[in-house]
Amino acid sequence: MTPSFYDEGALVAVLTTQPLDRALDYKAPEGGCHLGAFVEVPLGPRKVLGVVWGPGKGDYDYAKVRSVLRVLDAAPMRDEMRAFLKKAAAYTLTPMPAMLRLATRAPGLGDPPSMRKVYRRGEAEPDRMTDARRRVLEFLGEYGDLAFTLKELAELSGVTSSVIKGLVKQGAVAEEDSPRDLPFPPMDPSRPGKALTDDQARASSHIAGAVRSGAYGTTLLRGVTGSGKTEVYLEAVAACLASGRQALVLLPEIALTAEFLKRVEERFGARPAEWHSGATMTERRRIWRMVGQGNAQLVIGARSALFLPYQNLSLVVVDEEHDTSYKQEEGVLYNARDMAVLRASLLGAQVVLASATPSLESWANAESGKYTRLDLEARFGPAVMPTMATIDMRAEKLPSNRWVSEELKRAVNQRLERGEQAMLFLNRRGYAPITLCRACGHQVGCDQCDARMVEHRFLKRLMCHQCGETKPMPTVCPSCEAEDRMAPVGPGVERLGEEAVELFPDARVAVLSSDMYGSARALKAEIETIAEGGADVIIGTQLVAKGHNFPSLTLVGVIDADLGLQGSDLRAAERTFQLMRQVAGRAGRAEKPGTALLQTYQPEHPVIRAILAGDEEGFWRAEAAQREAAGVPPYGRMAGIILSGPDVAQVFDLANALARNTGPLQRVGAQVFGPAPAPIARVRGRHRVRLLVKAGKGVALQSAIAQWVGQVRLKGDLRLAVDIDPQSFY
Ligand code: ADP
Ligand code: ZN
Repeated sequence: MTPSFYDEGALVAVLTTQPLDRALDYKAPEGGCHLGAFVEVPLGPRKVLGVVWGPGKGDYDYAKVRSVLRVLDAAPMRDEMRAFLKKAAAYTLTPMPAMLRLATRAPGLGDPPSMRKVYRRGEAEPDRMTDARRRVLEFLGEYGDLAFTLKELAELSGVTSSVIKGLVKQGAVAEEDSPRDLPFPPMDPSRPGKALTDDQARASSHIAGAVRSGAYGTTLLRGVTGSGKTEVYLEAVAACLASGRQALVLLPEIALTAEFLKRVEERFGARPAEWHSGATMTERRRIWRMVGQGNAQLVIGARSALFLPYQNLSLVVVDEEHDTSYKQEEGVLYNARDMAVLRASLLGAQVVLASATPSLESWANAESGKYTRLDLEARFGPAVMPTMATIDMRAEKLPSNRWVSEELKRAVNQRLERGEQAMLFLNRRGYAPITLCRACGHQVGCDQCDARMVEHRFLKRLMCHQCGETKPMPTVCPSCEAEDRMAPVGPGVERLGEEAVELFPDARVAVLSSDMYGSARALKAEIETIAEGGADVIIGTQLVAKGHNFPSLTLVGVIDADLGLQGSDLRAAERTFQLMRQVAGRAGRAEKPGTALLQTYQPEHPVIRAILAGDEEGFWRAEAAQREAAGVPPYGRMAGIILSGPDVAQVFDLANALARNTGPLQRVGAQVFGPAPAPIARVRGRHRVRLLVKAGKGVALQSAIAQWVGQVRLKGDLRLAVDIDPQSFY
């Protein structure tokens, strides 16, 4: 057994966040250290963060081994967390230091909790009372024992800070130190929730019971948008909090959930901890520490919230579990949904996967009995599923540069007359996807990537959606130098917005696209204004498909339902199905019934027909049968290997070397496809080549791949990334 404490001088192995291939030996510091302790260790001339990972290896001259510099003021990493990081690393083939970086993504972890001065009513009376002094003392008197910062107190009582300082000198106001990282206010799970319907109550008591059991389990909670999935899992969260344990709710687009946070706050009487990329450094540090001390009971977060140091996590909800943003596509390539299940299984915790349109993976796991499946059949209250119909675009004679059909236009006008909202959905950011020279046909591309530049009129630039590179709109063709012949081709949401303004001159048109707002906060505010009726026609990308509530929205027009059906992606059909269902689910959330109209050139396509028929089980069964026949996920395993480098010949040489020596893969019966240029063959100036590995379901794929890629050495600037269970094939 690994000892849990090391006395001063004992050899310990310390895992650091530095890219080394092993944990390094150090001597335990004065006072010793616990297994899992967060420590600072010397590495060359630097001091780096690390975790005591176990006993030292002892393969070094003891006299030369350096000592741990200090143990940081943070709860040691728990055994369960270390086990989780190890398993996650083994699954995703990620080096441990990168895993540890994910688990310590908060700055200043090692700092002592910084203090700040706060002020409250003191014992003494001032020698002389002035108006200003009286205001301060009366204000403090009103608030009993509450403490305020100098700035707050000065502002709230309307005096200058020197008045307060004067009162401090006389003892009439007390000055104290208080830690900056304050615990989160306690949640009150006993506040009454909504009265649940029978269906909802059955689902929520099932999950709550499972949480209380202290055993691992995963539940797929399926129900159309508006059926009350959120209400159901909030009750399970309440049961979890009531038993004194922690809960985590993962959401795809945390920045956009003002409405959701308000609901949570109403339910539990206090704001939960919010973990997302927009959180400030100070907020991050506070959450990381408080989660570790058990002083944050409920975390609402984006995928990396899964790597916080929970003290007693018992419930993880993954809302919109099918959402592609759960897969991190850069750095550590992990799927937060799958890692949530892994972490919960190690902890004896429950996972709830909520979705109106589950991923085929989760659907299959429920079919095979690995997950429990709970269905909410009806929408809550009078809201009903929208009526859906296609508009056959082959029959429409639209003038060029118009995308809204006559039929859709009529439907929008009807809504406007009734004072309701309509949404036009197009999953394309920017003004136009292509900028073309009318003289020579040249299309403006990115200099760094094999991608077209997309015009963003709002930003007055062309932008590459691969690397983010921008350049000004050219007036002269970069190829034939013809002047003023550059023209936009095809629609983006900005251009659709222009069309809507022309078609509906009396309507207030709002375009919702992530790049049109300076910050997530601004976008969030805009969405709230619109939900409250601040616009009549809403134009949006897939952002709007993610869980916002627009009570007076009764029509959704999908401009190009075929968009997602193109491409060679394994999951193209599934994605289109999900997206269309989600978008359609925006319509008619409140009392008014909704309609969804899908513009398509292939109304007889099986996916389009399944969407219209609302035949989800039918769609899944057909999709599952196809994938099973092809031996692809979830009925087989896949991994992508992406090699990249500045020199295309070198990258291919490496890829060919791998493709020739597939011994370790053959031994487990895995096949290799490629090498081939990746669909986007150049990103940020690096050439990308990919190999695809396919194997049977029960195969130990990771160890075979590790052996296989371990045969080659990466010279110079060449890089190799392994993507287990790839989601996107770019
Ligand atoms: P979902 O998460 O499935 O989209 P929600 O939980 O957001 O559904 O519910 C949709 C709407 O219906 C919300 O405004 C919610 O407050 C309301 N609602 C759902 N169930 C109930 C209930 N039992 N009592 C009152 N309101 C409910
Ligand atoms: Zn680019």
